[in-house]
Amino acid sequence: MAGTVLIVDDNPVNRTVLANILKGEYETLQAADGAEALELVRQRTSPLSAILLDLIMPGMDGYAFLEALGREFPRAGIPVIVVTGDTEADAEVRALDLGATDFLGKPYRPRVILARLKNILQLRENAARLHRVERDSLTGLYNQEGFYQQVETLLRREPGLEVDIVAVDIGNFKLVNALYGVNVGDEVLRQTARRLQKQFSRAILARRTADQFLMAFPGGGVGGEELWDQIRGWTNPLGLNLPVRLGICAARGTAVPVSVLCDNAKIAADSIWNRYDCHWAVYDDAIRTRLETEQQLADDLEAALQTGQLEAWYQPKCDPATGKVVGAEALVRWNHPTRGSLSPDAFVPLFERNRLILKLDRFMWERTCRDLAAWQQAGHPAVPVSVNVSRVDVYQRDLAEQLGALLDRLGIRRDMLPLEITESAYCDDPAQLNDTIRRLRHAGFRVEMDDFGSGWSSLNALTELPVDGVKLDRKFLQDLETEQGERFARHLVEMIGDLGIPMTAEGVESARQASFLRELGCRSAQGLYYAPPMPRERFEAYLLERL
Ligand code: C2E
Ligand code: MG
Ligand code: MG
Repeated sequence: MAGTVLIVDDNPVNRTVLANILKGEYETLQAADGAEALELVRQRTSPLSAILLDLIMPGMDGYAFLEALGREFPRAGIPVIVVTGDTEADAEVRALDLGATDFLGKPYRPRVILARLKNILQLRENAARLHRVERDSLTGLYNQEGFYQQVETLLRREPGLEVDIVAVDIGNFKLVNALYGVNVGDEVLRQTARRLQKQFSRAILARRTADQFLMAFPGGGVGGEELWDQIRGWTNPLGLNLPVRLGICAARGTAVPVSVLCDNAKIAADSIWNRYDCHWAVYDDAIRTRLETEQQLADDLEAALQTGQLEAWYQPKCDPATGKVVGAEALVRWNHPTRGSLSPDAFVPLFERNRLILKLDRFMWERTCRDLAAWQQAGHPAVPVSVNVSRVDVYQRDLAEQLGALLDRLGIRRDMLPLEITESAYCDDPAQLNDTIRRLRHAGFRVEMDDFGSGWSSLNALTELPVDGVKLDRKFLQDLETEQGERFARHLVEMIGDLGIPMTAEGVESARQASFLRELGCRSAQGLYYAPPMPRERFEAYLLERL
């Protein structure tokens, strides 16, 4: 059987005739008027394939039934074929207006009825299949492919039309899944989709990946600030204020594939991820130029490693009470032949994105270990020198083995090379990070959480992650100027102390900050007040003087 068809007619003879026509092909149900039919629809647990509807009936007639059906089941999409002897000129138009799918006159012609039914069901099946292919099952919005197709069709049909494509990125989303479970995460996404639909009804909407939505505005003219005004302040079932960034890319014609336009919108959104004051960006010449520069830097890295353009500089960590050196941090410096001296901020985030950081970090670890070994051999007094471990390294399953092999090869003790892992790595995949940290510690390494307090995962991270130390982000010391800032920093330092976790304060720039730390019993501080990062030879001399 191809499904169930509901026959609605006040005349029992008509119902029987229709039922007989359908017999063998469809299951049938019968109702004598609109009200009875509506009740049957309500009771159904599986959807009806179609309804054959008479228009003129006592009680609730066919028109009233169509209206009620549309109101009560707006999305059910049950095809309704009106079968009636009503020959009024506007009957057909009225019925179609009310949502009827097709219209058949009496007398009944069995083969015509069966053929029409078959066609309608086939069309419906095709539409459903298309829907499945181009829709995202979680939110009902278009999926990426569906979106590309819709926008491409639009651009092709109207070559002069401007279409603004907007990438909507939700930040820290993995963390929501990790902390609250996938069901809650799904609900947040569904709610976001519904809101976008409501707020931007003129846009074509899609969910591109887990936590990234796309919008296309035919006609263009979208202003970033206006868009942001309509989104800001959205809360979600968790009451969390998840960060959102918007990237806008204008399109006209079909010269650039829609997938590339969407990537550009995403690139614009990504370009402001570390800016807390900025919520939207337009893909423009500045971004294009920056991408070219980045590409150039990526191409240059290999040669830089070969020719000694990259160096390890060392910044001392001092005990605020005595001023003595208790450790150091290795920081990369790039003397670029044409661009001059580059700060890590110019290339570390880039290399984290394209994974070249794996290479750079291995170079830095090896460089640092070689220096440690040289000092050891020369009989210099040595302090532990920490190295940075990027969030990308964390996903290397054999990280502990790799590092262990390096230290063994050069004869360095594990505790001489503490590892700094930035707090924001916690957002990516807490479970993986946890696993990596456990392995590293099991292998004898000290693991410190870098930039502690720079993101909102901190307090969770601190109680859940087994670390040997934290490096307090420099922003807390910058806030000392206000009374509230000072009180907050004090509580934080005391709380970390109460948890028994050793702490290094970063970015100490003034005597006032140093004495604040001294007073709180902090044993390790790093910053320009003590010493800047310096090349190896200068650090050696500094060390001999200060130890
Ligand atoms: P970080 O690991 O938090 O390093 C501390 C940063 O603070 C360094 O910036 C250091 O020069 C800077 N700094 C030191 N004292 C002061 C101060 O008193 N005031 C201020 N405002 N800043 C101070 P740098 O060297 O520019 O490095 C920036 C970031 O780049 C590092 O932050 C780290 O996340 C990353 N990085 C540096 N070298 C490497 C590396 O070899 N591998 C990896 N994966 N990342 C690195
Ligand atoms: Mg660091
Ligand atoms: Mg830091």
